[in-house]
Amino acid sequence: MNLTEPQCGTDLGLIRTRAVPNGDGSYSITGTKIFISSGEHDLTDNIIHLVLAKTPDAPDSVKGISLFIVPKYLVNDDGSLGERNTLSCGSIEHKMGIHANATCVMNYDGAKGWMVGEENKGLAAMFVMMNAARLGVGIQGLGQADIAYQNAVQYAQDRRQGRALTGPQDPTQKADPLFVHPDVRRMLMDGKAVVEGLRGLCLWGALQVDLAHGAASEEERQQADDLVSLLTPVIKGYGTDKGYDVATNAQQVFGGHGYIEEQGMSQYVRDARITMIYEGANGVQAMDLVGRKLAQNGGRAIQAFFAIVDAECAAAKDKPAFADFAGQLEKANGELKAATMWFMANGMTNPNNVGAGAHHYMHIMGIVALGLMWLRMAEAAQKALDEGRGSKAFLEAKLVTARHFGERFIPDAGALRRKIEAGSEAMMALTPDQFFAA
Ligand SMILES: Cc1cc2nc3c(=O)[nH]c(=O)nc-3n(C[C@H](O)[C@H](O)[C@H](O)COP(=O)(O)OP(=O)(O)OC[C@H]3O[C@@H](n4cnc5c(N)ncnc54)[C@H](O)[C@@H]3O)c2cc1C
Repeated sequence: MNLTEPQCGTDLGLIRTRAVPNGDGSYSITGTKIFISSGEHDLTDNIIHLVLAKTPDAPDSVKGISLFIVPKYLVNDDGSLGERNTLSCGSIEHKMGIHANATCVMNYDGAKGWMVGEENKGLAAMFVMMNAARLGVGIQGLGQADIAYQNAVQYAQDRRQGRALTGPQDPTQKADPLFVHPDVRRMLMDGKAVVEGLRGLCLWGALQVDLAHGAASEEERQQADDLVSLLTPVIKGYGTDKGYDVATNAQQVFGGHGYIEEQGMSQYVRDARITMIYEGANGVQAMDLVGRKLAQNGGRAIQAFFAIVDAECAAAKDKPAFADFAGQLEKANGELKAATMWFMANGMTNPNNVGAGAHHYMHIMGIVALGLMWLRMAEAAQKALDEGRGSKAFLEAKLVTARHFGERFIPDAGALRRKIEAGSEAMMALTPDQFFAA
């Protein structure tokens, strides 16, 4: 995907790359793209670049962007590779992480390309791929969190330091494993709650993608499509924010050995960091959620989400084992509703109120969405235990981890709502000069 240029990242209206018609249906593409993942490599015979560019008379804004297919090698009529196109890799970026991926500056010098879709509708066409990629990046964050967490669990078992606060747990040794320390447990339990909850959310999102295509009725297909659209910035933004937290906490479990390269933990932190930045930085995901997704179709998607959470909480509250958790989750859903109402009441008069609270809102929604996943997992685990199916240790751990999520994550929803309701006044009050004032 070739979107980014030196002067334009988030704001694609600033694109300068030009596409001039050659008169034979093809275009001549000229411009410089930066940060292009796998822009150049020899893993495949050909590379097909999807390039955003502007045609000569296009409006000078996001409304004037078209999408082009630009192959590294032109393809002959019989499908064989032809001459090399006039595009080249200017340099490979030196990065903080994901070193296995060549991130390239790409120069297009009158390269031959073909338009995809309609003129000036390129951004919408690109978004088909970007929406899928955003879900992919959410899963990338999950994957990095998970491997970092798994390493931390093993290290907490192997490494012995100090004694348990309640007295020696392993008197045969001079020290107990790290596992005995509540603060180490905090990091491990948080990691377990996020990784398993986020995995659930990614799978629920994937199910909605399938239902959007293949559900029996138009109504079901539409609701699934609405939910995918609503959840995409949450899976990407909340998922990668929390995924990064898990990776740094997993590194923290290793103490100094996590900072030294030998153990490999710092790589997970470096690799996880990019997931919060590319495919639309997480602040931009939050703006997509509150600025576009909430209001779409008269709020149909968020209303459907509220209704799902409310219905499942109401059903679970009748079961004594889940009444507490369902009550907490229902309250968090109430915080989300209140924050939504607050935006509606205060966003029109001052849009900065929405911008100032967007990131907090995305996190409340992440908490509610993961809370829903934990409610479902806990209910399924209890059912399996009652029926004598599956591994008891695994299922009991699910119940305890759900409780941890209820105790340590769900309460944050109330604090985040209060931050949203603080508005934007103090946030926006200082002049840029005042930031520099000593
Ligand atoms: C390793 C790597 C691989 C990449 N791969 C690709 C690729 O394959 N193809 C490609 O086209 N691009 C790629 N990118 C570019 C990436 O998508 C952009 O870096 C990213 O979208 C942010 O753009 P920017 O860096 O210009 O930051 P800017 O747009 O300058 O943003 C800077 C900060 O300001 C915030 N911000 C900006 N505008 C707003 C706004 N309107 N509201 C709120 N906050 C705002 C952002 O959230 C961010 O925190 C890659 C980048 C990296 C580092």
